[in-house]
Amino acid sequence: MFFDPIYLLLMIPGMALMFLAQSKVKGTYRRYSQVQSTMGMTGAQVAQTILMKKGVSGIRIEPIAGELTDHYDPSAKAVRLSEGIYNSTSLAAAAVAAHECGHVLQDVEGYKFMNLRAALVPAVNLGSRLGPLLIMAGLIFNLLNLAWVGIFFFAAVLLFHVVTLPVEFDASGRALRLIDDLGILQGEENKGAKAVLSAAALTYVATAFYAFLNLLYYIMLVNRRQ
Ligand SMILES: [Zn+2]
Repeated sequence: MFFDPIYLLLMIPGMALMFLAQSKVKGTYRRYSQVQSTMGMTGAQVAQTILMKKGVSGIRIEPIAGELTDHYDPSAKAVRLSEGIYNSTSLAAAAVAAHECGHVLQDVEGYKFMNLRAALVPAVNLGSRLGPLLIMAGLIFNLLNLAWVGIFFFAAVLLFHVVTLPVEFDASGRALRLIDDLGILQGEENKGAKAVLSAAALTYVATAFYAFLNLLYYIMLVNRRQ
């Protein structure tokens, strides 16, 4: 299946966009990790300030190993910031810390796309493994209905990546408004934060596009048999 020229032709734009997005996010992150904010708040302080000003309590802010491993864990009620963000006073640190607080606020408000995304997680875990298997088995044993079930599973994976987009865009939108309104970053500094979060957003678009191309290919494969 991987040596199918149609697969390569279809997936090359997807892989190119993934590569472009990943190198852009790394480059932008590195650049704005070097620029310190005037206020000099660390990522952890940015998160504390935002949650306090928004009247949100009971959320832990803790460091985590790795680079760009930052996330909000709704079940643990914890904002985890990577070492390069937690103690850093850079524009990138402020942007990323504020973005994770954006997810906290979504959680507190019961933002509907976040709930939908969480509900899709089990389907994604199952679909990303079972989908391609069912499609392959369906094609090998000429059971096209089975292959279509596989496609249905894989479509759930695409849906997950599509629903991720409004969740991430909304968190970044909230983050940029908050760091500006609360004076965490000033003037031109806000542009640096925006560049970091826009680059991160592009990786989610690339992932969704890649999943879409994969689904398209599977549909073509099964369709050709009919
Ligand atoms: Zn996010």
